Formats: sequence, structure tokens, C-alpha cells
Amino acid sequence: MIRITCLGGAGSVTGSCYLVESAHNRKILVDCGLFQGGRQMESRNWEEWGFDPGEIQTLFLTHAHVDHSGRIPKLVKDGFKGKIVTSPPTAELCEIMLLDAAHIQEMDAEWQTRKNKRQAKRDVTPLYTTEDAEASLKLLSPMERDNIVTVEPGMKARLRNAGHILGSSILELWVEEGEETLKIVFSGDLGKKDQLIVRDPHEIFDANYLFVESTYGNRLHRDFEGSKKELIDAIHYSISLGEKIIIPAFAVERTQEILYILGEFLRDGLIPDIPIYLDSPLAIKATEIFRRNKKYYDEEAKAIVDSGYDPFSMPNIRFTPTTRESMAINEKPGSAIIIAASGMCTAGRIKHHLKHNLWRDGASIVIVGFQAKGTTGRKIVDGAKQVKIFRENVAVRAKVFTIGGFSAHADQGDLLEWVSHFESNPKVFVVHGEATASEALAEKIHERLNLIAHIPRWKERLILKPKEIVSEKPPAEAEAADMKTPMINTIIDLENELKALKKRVKSGEMDKTIGEDEIDRLKYIQDELDSVFIS
Ligand SMILES: [Zn+2]
Repeated sequence: MIRITCLGGAGSVTGSCYLVESAHNRKILVDCGLFQGGRQMESRNWEEWGFDPGEIQTLFLTHAHVDHSGRIPKLVKDGFKGKIVTSPPTAELCEIMLLDAAHIQEMDAEWQTRKNKRQAKRDVTPLYTTEDAEASLKLLSPMERDNIVTVEPGMKARLRNAGHILGSSILELWVEEGEETLKIVFSGDLGKKDQLIVRDPHEIFDANYLFVESTYGNRLHRDFEGSKKELIDAIHYSISLGEKIIIPAFAVERTQEILYILGEFLRDGLIPDIPIYLDSPLAIKATEIFRRNKKYYDEEAKAIVDSGYDPFSMPNIRFTPTTRESMAINEKPGSAIIIAASGMCTAGRIKHHLKHNLWRDGASIVIVGFQAKGTTGRKIVDGAKQVKIFRENVAVRAKVFTIGGFSAHADQGDLLEWVSHFESNPKVFVVHGEATASEALAEKIHERLNLIAHIPRWKERLILKPKEIVSEKPPAEAEAADMKTPMINTIIDLENELKALKKRVKSGEMDKTIGEDEIDRLKYIQDELDSVFIS
């Protein structure tokens, strides 16, 4: 009897985490991601694990995105000492991403503690620290894809290319069950066909049980060639008016894809030679890792390297790791392309570039990634006349180009095609999707492929016997308590603190202590305020 408990990435797209327990009482985890998107979802990061992390022998990590990897330092903090088995590029990307995630957790706890101190409340500890992240990195055990290895007694595994981001993998797991061996496949996040840089997802033909992601289970992407043309149009539009082109982009994969496309445009003479700024320290480091890992590129990217070019470099590209260099970008007049994070315009340097350019006739804002409800990026996409950036209302006069064809996820058609390769009639579990996306995909899998498709709930435990599946659903979540009163109380506290702060600043009492850091902290609080309304 094999038991699989869906501890994240079930009924949501974040927090991916599946506990597999074998008949031999071996326990492994597949992914250990951070829950993201609003306070209620994020509170799950603080919950008890539901198992003893010290008992887990192996954690398989499908890829480096934090919604799959971001709770690893907490797992280590809570006693995990096993191996983290993942592909070599994923291990490299984790080094920068987990340290970045730890830094964010520490900053978060720091401002909460400052706030609490003034109210004589207790200090807040971060979810985990840089030290925990460093300890996690020591457990990374890179494993090349395509080799079958014995990981535990009665358990073998193999990683296959998932084609989603550099190093992303599908996990094939063989678990002995008495006389029989059951094969379980976890898709991880799957890329779309013909995606840039990475090769197409590996086709797999057999499994008894299949866990498939459904991020875009109800959507079809726009065509890629059309999207490239739209990007060229955006660039020409702003160049003709002497203004800047702003591209908010996630630091890993999307940024490198945009650099790759811009390099192609330049080599083909489709855009003129204007400055291109990569203005994100994390994206700069990630790009270095992409450069070092050429052997994982697809044929097209390898051909670019073979013809003597670096797919992520151009003569006119400028990396701006420091804040000073970043600020200097907007002081120079004339056209330039600026790529910065965060991808949904909620934090980071992109906010400064929007503040400087959003109100300018002739500037372009090029949206190339998913924008969640409530984010600044989504407001811009939805046609807001003005948006709030650092507490200022900034008019939207720039032209907004929303380009849908650059996704790193398989769409409904790609997912169905990938599942259709299985010849062994697997039982399918549709995970990693919002309810509507998972339901749409499950329905199509049933209709078109005649397979049984089940959508497990968060914390649902699946008991896999060779001939049947038993499911233990968790009790329905308790009715949400009345949150209005504590919300109003918190707002009143915040107002009082701000009034007191304003008084101290005005009186001159703080003249010596006010610096850029203090202003940055206040801006950080503003970002947090925005995020309260994201869900
Ligand atoms: Zn991902």
C-alpha cells in the first residue's frame, strides 16, 4: 500500500508538496514549495507539516521556482537531513533563489518586529533565515536526468526533461509493492512545445498513476510568431517617439527568453541598436547560470552558440547590479529597453521605472507574463487611467502592449497531448491549478482520452493499492471567522503609528537618523499594503 498526501499544489498553483509513503515505510517528498498569493494562502507556510521532517530520507525537487522549492529551508530548519535530489542546473538556480527567498523572509520579519516593538508586542521570527537556506544548499544532491537510480530500498527514480525552465524535470518513481512494482509519474510544471532555450517535455509512455499539472488547464496560448511581431511593434513605437520600453519580467527563464528574442531581433536587423538594460540583480545572476549550462539547451539555442553568439548577450546590453546604476538609467534621455523585476510590478526596481515612464506619451509597457488579480501589473493590463506607485497616483499615458505568447507553461492542448502518450491507462490526478483550470483539464482527459481523472484537495490522502484507490478527504475547512474587526483594529494601529512618525519627522527629532534605508523601509511597507488586497 502506497500513500500519497497532497500537502500543496492541490487546489492551488503554489506550495507544491507531495508526501509519498511506501509499504517499506520509506518516506519521500516531491517538491516543497512556498504558498503565495494573499495572506490566507501564505499563512499555510507556517502550519505544521503533518509529518516529521526528520523522517524524510529524500526530497525530489522538480525545478527551482519558489512555488516548488521555497519551503525547503523551513523543512531543514525543522529537522530534515536527507538528500535533495534534483538536476544540476536546478541545484545551481536554487543557490541564488533560496538565498533571495530567505532575504525576503528576513526583511518581512524585521519590519514586523519594529512595528511590534513600538506596541510592546513580541519579536517576529522569520519563516527561515539565510543560515537555514545555506544549510539547505549543503543537502543538494544533483543527479543527471535520464538515469534510473535506486534512492531507497524498494524505490527507484529517474528525472526527465520537463521543458518548463532550465533544469526543470518530470519525476518517474518506481515503488515496490509486495510482488508488484507500481510506477508513479509527477509531471512537475510542463513547458509548452517549441519553447525557447529548453527542449520539449520528454514523452512518457507508461505509469500506473500520473500526477499532472493544470496551471493553464483551461486556456490556449496565443501564437508565438504573432507575439514576437507585437514586441517588435512596441519597440518601434517608442523608438519613433524617443521614449523607453519597459518590460516587467520574472528573473528566471522569462528574462532570459526576452534577452534571447531581443538578440535574435538584433542579429536579424529587426530592431535598431539601442541600449538594453537588465536591471535586476537576481536576473543577472540567473543569466550567468543559464550561460554556464549550455549542454541543456535545445537545438536552436545550441545553433546560436555554435555560430559564435551568446544567446543572452548583445553588444548594447548593460547589466546594472547596483542601485546607483539602476537610478542612472532614467536620467539618460532617449530610447532604451529596460527589463526589470518583479514580473507583476508589485515590488522591486520595476516600480521605479514605471514611476518614471508610465505617464510619458510614447513610452511602452510590455507585459509578457501572467498578472494576478490585484497586482499593479493587472491594473495596467485592465486599462487603469492611473495607478498608485510609491503612494503617488501616476497617470497611464504610455502604450500598454499585452503579449500572451511567451508563457513557460504548457496550455490545455499541450497538456492533453502529453497525457495522450501514456499507453498504460494510468489513473490521473490533476494538480497544480486553480479549480476551474483543473476541472476543465480533468473533464477533457476523461472525454478525449477515456482516463479516470481525479482532482485531489489540499491535504487529501490517496491510498494506492495495485487494483484500487481509496481517498481520505480532509474535513471541510472551518467557516472563515469574522475578520473585519481585527482588520479595522490593525488599520487604526497603523494610522496612529504613521501620525506619530510624521510628528517626529516634522519636529526635526529624527533628522540625524533619516537616510535612504529608512525611506526604503517605508516604501516596503507600502508594497505590503498593496499586497493585502491581492488574493
Ligand atoms: Zn514553475
